[in-house]
Amino acid sequence: MPINFKSLDLIPPLLARLTELNYLQPTPIQAEVIPIVLAGRDIIAGANTGSGKTATFALPMLQHLHADRPLTNKNNDGNYVAALILVPTRELAKQIADNIKSYAQHLSGTVKTVAVYGGVSVNTQMLALRGGTDILVATPGRLLDLISNNAIKLDKVKTLVLDEADRMLSLGFNDELSGLLALLPTTKQTLLFSATFPEKVQALTQELLNNPVEIQLQSADASTLVQRVFTVNKGQKTALLAHLIKQDEWRQVLIFVNAKNNCNHLAKKLAKRGIAADVFHGDKTQAARNRALEAFKAGEVDVLIATDIAARGLDIDKLPVVINFDLPRSPLDYMHRIGRSGRAGEVGLALSLIDYEDYHHFNIIEKKNKIQLEREQVAGFEADEVIPEDILAANKPMAKPEGTGKKKRKKQSRA
Ligand code: AMP
Repeated sequence: MPINFKSLDLIPPLLARLTELNYLQPTPIQAEVIPIVLAGRDIIAGANTGSGKTATFALPMLQHLHADRPLTNKNNDGNYVAALILVPTRELAKQIADNIKSYAQHLSGTVKTVAVYGGVSVNTQMLALRGGTDILVATPGRLLDLISNNAIKLDKVKTLVLDEADRMLSLGFNDELSGLLALLPTTKQTLLFSATFPEKVQALTQELLNNPVEIQLQSADASTLVQRVFTVNKGQKTALLAHLIKQDEWRQVLIFVNAKNNCNHLAKKLAKRGIAADVFHGDKTQAARNRALEAFKAGEVDVLIATDIAARGLDIDKLPVVINFDLPRSPLDYMHRIGRSGRAGEVGLALSLIDYEDYHHFNIIEKKNKIQLEREQVAGFEADEVIPEDILAANKPMAKPEGTGKKKRKKQSRA
């Protein structure tokens, strides 16, 4: 019998909201983890973005807070927080807070949820925190600023969620995290989510978690994500990209490049080919980033060109195509980027366009991520068979890509 939300012992106001949101049944991580979190245990969960992990911690959190009613400022303690969710990026902070507010809609009494993150005025956030909050979603740096301004205190926290812990550490938030963790009470429930478990994350879990249940649910939806790689000559990458977007009438394409300038440059080149694209990178103001994201989500703009800042935490329903126009520098970022596609049961395509200069690096990305993809070519955009001498010399050791030797297999792509 398929598991439904009711069998997970969620309370009626939450169930009613899930029905409205058309969540017909729990995702694998929700089915496995929600009962454990409801029972108050600590967890370490290996789960990708798109696996439905926000609801996994948010629903039990709301249920616990609801049981503790009256909710807001129970102890009349001006700057308390009952549940703290730490995240690596501002986009993720806002998205999680929005999801929580949505899930909480039918709970009687208000559950106050505030999101705080850098890049915007601290004053508005200080005002929002007046009287404390039940749930605080925060990026580490801004939270520390707010604490040093006495806007908030962490000594009443009962639940701590570390979301995308690997990303938080790889973005260099180590010191901020240590500072924050020292301010939290020892007795609390801690939930740690991470796509990967490098040493730093393992050290954090040892320090922080109390007899945790470990759940490994990588790529909950791996079968719905198709990864492909097309070889192409450097000079033809943009032409191939434009061809694919037009030919397959792609809507909502997220394209990754490695530098802010590349975003604008590529957007201009696509515009010349009749494709309107918006850009999303760290030099844009927060307001401009929000606008670009909203327009993309609403389907007003089909193509969004982004740097890795967008690789994590963007919640865009049914994102069908993610393209690596520039390869990410780290194999880990490759996984983060492709995690934007094929979400919660939707079929997604993660496509990498590689030229000779990328071959060696892509081999490393594959090896580290334990994947192996067939090199494909698109008719009319085939890569040269012979690697130019200067590139060979500049990129040693250069492994030839599979399938680009003499016996190269040509494959007409429908992408
Ligand atoms: P998350 O991994 O939490 O960012 O969730 C990814 C997307 O899946 C979000 O758009 C959620 O609203 C959606 N989602 C989460 N759980 C379910 C579910 N059980 N049924 C349908 N959609 C879901």
